[in-house]
Amino acid sequence: MNFHVITIFPDICSAYTDAGVLGRAQKTDKGKGAKVRGKKISVSYYNPRDFATDKHRKVDDRPYGGGPGMVMKAEPILKAWNKAVGRKKSKVKTLLMSPRGQKFDQKMAKELAGKYEHVVLISGRYEGIDARVKDILKAEEVSVGDYVLTGGELPALSIIDAVSREVPGVLGTFESLEDQRLSSGEMYTRPEILEYKKKKHQVPKVYLNGDPKAINERRTKD
Ligand code: SAM
Repeated sequence: MNFHVITIFPDICSAYTDAGVLGRAQKTDKGKGAKVRGKKISVSYYNPRDFATDKHRKVDDRPYGGGPGMVMKAEPILKAWNKAVGRKKSKVKTLLMSPRGQKFDQKMAKELAGKYEHVVLISGRYEGIDARVKDILKAEEVSVGDYVLTGGELPALSIIDAVSREVPGVLGTFESLEDQRLSSGEMYTRPEILEYKKKKHQVPKVYLNGDPKAINERRTKD
């Protein structure tokens, strides 16, 4: 799976995608026991400023029809998209981060991981992106929730993270098994008795008795 992120803030995004599970998934897996060899994902960044043609590398302008704030210009984004996947003809999906878009969920994450080789994520800033970008690129607007953020970077990162977990080999065997459920329920680790502000907090006995059926029942009770 290849992710292509169009953003004016590539550095804040790459700091996240280079770390942890996502960072590991971008490296070649030479481990003997690895079920899926090689790189599982790639994440590339394209800054619209690098595609702006004026000397100030302007990526925004005033909205037609008036209104507050600025709008991201279409041309630098279209050029960035062309550089990312312009030559690719199939298995490409373009997502436009937008608070008005379809709500992203686990089902969409599975579908993106299963159907596509290239996912382009366009992150807006300011008052949003010139509406012609969506039409020209046949992009799908996607929202990560009913709230408005200052930019599309966090939504893009959330999507990359959730989709990557669905790519074979990205998670270890244990994590993959856990992933068959949406959430693993309540979890405890050492110490068995935690002392906090003079009060003792004991791990429920069921987790100490070693009965897998009882543990599973307790974990999934809600
Ligand atoms: N009035 C603008 C609108 O309705 O699109 C608000 C733009 S918001 C300040 C700037 C950018 O943040 C948007 O273009 C979008 O890319 C991103 N964004 C903000 N909230 C989002 C959300 N809930 N889901 C996905 N993207 C979001």
